[in-house]
Amino acid sequence: MITINTDLLTTDGTLNIERIREDFPILHQEVNGKPLVYFDNAATTQKPIQVVEALTAYYLNDNANIHRGIHTLAERATAAFEATRDSVKTFINANEREEIIFTRGTTEGINLVASTWGITNLKAGDEIVVSAMEHHSNMVPWHMLAQRTKAVVKILPMNDAGELLPEAFDTIITSKTKLLACVHVSNTLGSINPVKQLIAKAHAVGAVALIDGAQAVSHLDIDVQDLDADFYAFSAHKLYGPTGVGVLYGKRAILEAMPPYQGGGEMISEVTYEGCTYNELPYKFEAGTPNIADVVALKAAIDYVNSIGKAAIRAYEHELLDYAVSKLKNIEGIRLIGTAKDKVSVQSFVFADIHHQDLGIILDKEGVAIRTGHHCTQPLMGRLGVTGTSRASFAFYNTKEEIDQFIAAIHKAIKLFR
Ligand code: PMP
Repeated sequence: MITINTDLLTTDGTLNIERIREDFPILHQEVNGKPLVYFDNAATTQKPIQVVEALTAYYLNDNANIHRGIHTLAERATAAFEATRDSVKTFINANEREEIIFTRGTTEGINLVASTWGITNLKAGDEIVVSAMEHHSNMVPWHMLAQRTKAVVKILPMNDAGELLPEAFDTIITSKTKLLACVHVSNTLGSINPVKQLIAKAHAVGAVALIDGAQAVSHLDIDVQDLDADFYAFSAHKLYGPTGVGVLYGKRAILEAMPPYQGGGEMISEVTYEGCTYNELPYKFEAGTPNIADVVALKAAIDYVNSIGKAAIRAYEHELLDYAVSKLKNIEGIRLIGTAKDKVSVQSFVFADIHHQDLGIILDKEGVAIRTGHHCTQPLMGRLGVTGTSRASFAFYNTKEEIDQFIAAIHKAIKLFR
């Protein structure tokens, strides 16, 4: 059941920002004597009180271990946990609830695929194709797998704006390709990648396709069936939900054929001194007591996002991005990093004469939280010829007034350093 907070939108269907901000108490504080401006949403989003309340309500009223208990609390906890699975199924339009596996986050989802599907299916000379803008979470597990199997990692190139080059798809994705692993939305550049087209290319050569949806779920409508993704991974904490929990979607037939990830309770059907058989999906991949409370609270986050609606969220976030870019591009000496036509509300930038870390420190003194560094995309930094960037990432609770404070803080830093 989706709880609709009808007052989060105004009568004309746009966001009621003041009302929405009431649900995020953390935003109403001063940092270093200035109103907090939180522009680090690509790293993690803030949580509405509905999510925090779901978490505390679970611990205060329902806490019990799930699935095996026959007492009332165990049944309530199990029902709440499994309700989130249904909610996620609808949220990403999976075909079956058994295709939704709870993990610790995007990173664990990708590692799960690498160490089960990957180890079983890859051999020396096989190719794993990733893009030039992958987060380390969707790069390092494949390097590790390549080291173990002698498979080879290939890179889909991009242009200077941060758009993948379609003309290179057919030369990189070939009959040697066994896996395509691509980020849906780049955390550093904001680029939205043509993953549906890439998945089709992968399938045309008989490869399996995994999509890293960590940055996509909070902005885009995700339809795993329309994309025809074989795997889709994301983290709750980037979706206004709690840390420590994520989702791996996988097509049933592929999940069925994969060996389990970790061994332990829950994932077995029968254990003897001699051996064991495995549980059915999705439990086969959920060994041990899961992060029950945070899974339960994830449903509240999904309900909250659904209450506003992704289309309204996207429209407003685009307004914020356009406003920020119109101000940023007039600052002398700035280089905007990530100018793809199709992108979300993330903007990286650098100055030749001001180190990103120094800028981040000054901005913090002005109450503005941005992210500086390589954003776990070191290969991309190399491709762009920088050691790091400053990155502002906007969420639906941010405002144009906050962007003004951010721009004023950059001007203050420039005065200090030039
Ligand atoms: N992929 C992308 C594109 C990300 O932005 C992130 C988080 N920064 C991850 C993967 C990893 O997510 P997590 O740390 O939640 O596992």
